[in-house]
Amino acid sequence: MKKSSELFRRAQNFLPGGVNSPVRAFKSVNMDPLFIKQGKGSKIVDVDGNTYIDYVGSWGPLILGHAHPEVIEFLQNVVESGTSFGAPTELEIQIAEKIVEMVPSVEMVRMVNSGTEATMSAIRLARGATGRDKIIKFEGCYHGHGDSFLIKAGSGALTFGEPNSPGVPAALAKETLVAQFNDLNSVEQLFENNKDQIAAVIVEPIAGNMGVILPAEGFLQGLRELCTQHGALLIFDEVMTGFRVHPGGAQALYNVQPDLTTMGKVIGGGLPAAAYGGKKEFMEMVSPSGPVYQAGTLSGNPLAMAAGLKTLEIISQPGFFEKLNKKANWFFSELELFIKNQNYSISVNYVNSMGCLFFKEGGVRNFSEATQSDTELFARYFVQMLKKGIYLAPSQFEAMFISAAHSEEDLQNTLHAGREVLAKLF
Ligand SMILES: *Cc1c(COP(=O)(O)O)cnc(C)c1O
Repeated sequence: MKKSSELFRRAQNFLPGGVNSPVRAFKSVNMDPLFIKQGKGSKIVDVDGNTYIDYVGSWGPLILGHAHPEVIEFLQNVVESGTSFGAPTELEIQIAEKIVEMVPSVEMVRMVNSGTEATMSAIRLARGATGRDKIIKFEGCYHGHGDSFLIKAGSGALTFGEPNSPGVPAALAKETLVAQFNDLNSVEQLFENNKDQIAAVIVEPIAGNMGVILPAEGFLQGLRELCTQHGALLIFDEVMTGFRVHPGGAQALYNVQPDLTTMGKVIGGGLPAAAYGGKKEFMEMVSPSGPVYQAGTLSGNPLAMAAGLKTLEIISQPGFFEKLNKKANWFFSELELFIKNQNYSISVNYVNSMGCLFFKEGGVRNFSEATQSDTELFARYFVQMLKKGIYLAPSQFEAMFISAAHSEEDLQNTLHAGREVLAKLF
């Protein structure tokens, strides 16, 4: 038996489903997950010694690729001095200054340990700031596993929230209202029906967790206007898009300023770090300068700050994003052209270095269109690509990421593999 499969059997005795985060288990592609022993640049190596070109990038953080020498060197220097103090360090100020410099709407920031923690805290702050309880999220958007966000998508959710995970109290779920991505009317309706009760609208400005879906022209601006008009806070969940689609995130790309922003993934450079930030008038309400409580034993951890800071410094060097975006846009447009010429029923959505293929024709603009994808066909595509040494996210509804470490050869090889696999599938 393969070593990966042996390890997976062993893991299942002690870890639920054999993993510490569900999608890693490869369930939707009907195979055992690969156990990884190392990564360097654009490549990862599994415990059986197979090498893959990696487009998961730890689900988004690794915009520089694996084990970037400067990040590793900085981490090594910092770790020598100790791993955690639970007391302030200068690194925390440095990364905060860097974030404020990079992200247009952020004037002040609180570091946390995961994207989930960032969104949970941002919502608490929005509720504290407005004195209101309800929030609006969008069908198919993912904001981590906080109770308020695990709300089933569907028409019933438009009136009363319905938990889609056992364990979420109904009393809390009903405070989460669900609107349709790219449909301002659905948001307006919720505002009308819940006058003066909505604390915040939270949105992934580019949806990345139902596959990749771009905001329609005017959608984000429309949300901004509705929130302002109704006295609700606009929260951009940029855990995936932040420092990824643009140095200033999707808000810089589309020129829309949210009140609060949540960040994660790239911000930790591969270590557990995330943040929420925004205008000072709101952030100063966070404890200890204000009454909204939020804390963390390991928040601002020196190692996580070091990896994050070094990553942000590297990506803000002149030319970094131009080069990455050019490469990524070339890759996705080549793929798109091939698919179009062959008339395959696949839609390609991408923004710079994040993108995805939907096994569905005619484009994908919202959750219901995303769910019309042929997930069985995706699973076959995934397995065949893996056999050719291409490691994609094991789900139709996840993004693929291109990093600065992907070479032109990597991308050419991937296109070549993609053409062969698709030709067999269709
Ligand atoms: C990944 C992600 C999260 C959750 O972050 P974790 O670090 O996994 O808790 C939240 N929001 C978005 C948009 C994400 O992509």
